[in-house]
Amino acid sequence: MMQRAGFAGTVPFLILMITNLAGQTPHASASTPASWLDHYREPAARLIGEAVSSTFAWQRLAVLTDTIGNRLSGTAALDRAIQWAAEEMKRDGLENVHTERVMVPKWVRGSERADIVEPHRRALAMLGLGNSIGTPKDVLQAQVLVVRSFEDLDAHAAASRGRIVCFNAPFTTYGETVRFRSAGPSRAARYGAIAVLVRSIGHDGLRLPHTGALQYAADAPQIPAAAIASEDADLLQRMADRGTPTVVRLVVEARFEPDVESANVIGEIRGRELPDEIVVVSGHLDSWDVGAGATDDGGGCVVSWEALRLMKKLNLRPRRTVRVVLWTNEENGGRGGLAYRDQHRAELSKHVMMMESDSGVFRPTGFGFSGSDPARATVKAIASLLAGLAADQVSGGGGGADIGPSVQEGHIPAMSLDVDGTKYFLIHHTEADTIDKIDPVEMAKCAAAVSVMAYVVADLPERLGEQTGILSK
Ligand SMILES: [Zn+2]
Repeated sequence: MMQRAGFAGTVPFLILMITNLAGQTPHASASTPASWLDHYREPAARLIGEAVSSTFAWQRLAVLTDTIGNRLSGTAALDRAIQWAAEEMKRDGLENVHTERVMVPKWVRGSERADIVEPHRRALAMLGLGNSIGTPKDVLQAQVLVVRSFEDLDAHAAASRGRIVCFNAPFTTYGETVRFRSAGPSRAARYGAIAVLVRSIGHDGLRLPHTGALQYAADAPQIPAAAIASEDADLLQRMADRGTPTVVRLVVEARFEPDVESANVIGEIRGRELPDEIVVVSGHLDSWDVGAGATDDGGGCVVSWEALRLMKKLNLRPRRTVRVVLWTNEENGGRGGLAYRDQHRAELSKHVMMMESDSGVFRPTGFGFSGSDPARATVKAIASLLAGLAADQVSGGGGGADIGPSVQEGHIPAMSLDVDGTKYFLIHHTEADTIDKIDPVEMAKCAAAVSVMAYVVADLPERLGEQTGILSK
């Protein structure tokens, strides 16, 4: 499924094809959105050509994930990644490279396991949920109550007391099912449950548990919680349906330690005419403590950073500043995004657009965009420069967890890189989030898409969304 044989042979062909599509198409037809766009065909073709002519982005991500690995907030690995990124940005020739201090929570997983002890002993494939408390020193062992939804839990309120409640809701979409992970533990605790198991929030795979954060409600007792593989949730369900009492023993040594210092990493290409006006591209450098944080979100970091490296390499300096931000603590706190909003409050009004790439770096399809109608029309026109990559779609709902606080406070147009999402929730927050799931050609195309969008938005003759002259024609 992830074959990469023959990749090297396809590169020269790709360059030719993309140069033709993006660079030499006359576009004199009635569908041509605007003449200002013609000015950007040549730089766009150069950015695309440079991005897809090598595997640089993939190689850089491989160095990050192979030599540093996963990067949970508060770990030495995240500190190393922050230092490495700042050094590499300087080596790329980016300007104003620095880190900005952020205090982050330090949640430590500790050792953990879950076993069925009755009717026969077997280990469950589990991962404790982020922010979970640990189990008590003496053994936590109880009969399991399997429920399929919150309504099902409510219907079994009395039966929940003293039990380990297992939420077994089939994965539909992340938005629809993530509540069982985030809110399930407190919902069950209110009825007297002593621990929670959650069917992993992700596509059924090969017996992989998916971790992720829970949020304890202030008005419920805190109880330990863990994700289990879908196969194991199905097993517990079959036993429950058959009326077979199933007893599980849970050991979770998770705990919080005091907050520690971390940082957002920043680099820039300073604008040649309006350096105080800023276009942000970004990804989050922290990850969960499993796998290698390749797709979530090392890839998003690298393709955002690539936008600036490519501009630098091609000597393309846009009118406004392009800033890359590699956020800290997206996964279990969001403190990086909050700190940026607070530290940059005075210049939020100068932020022309903020983009976050946090959906993987699979085949790019375009962008999500949130902003005014005139700005959307401009973004759609820019995206047409990516038609040769089939990455020219502009959908609603662009945004991201880390840019969110600044976007809301500053009323800033927001974007996200949209990619083929079929593989993302197979590996999301699992041991399988590794570089081998990422195709170098697809990743190069993601870098090309982000670089073209960032460059043109930063270079526009009028500020995005405030066009009254040339852009509105
Ligand atoms: Zn992420």
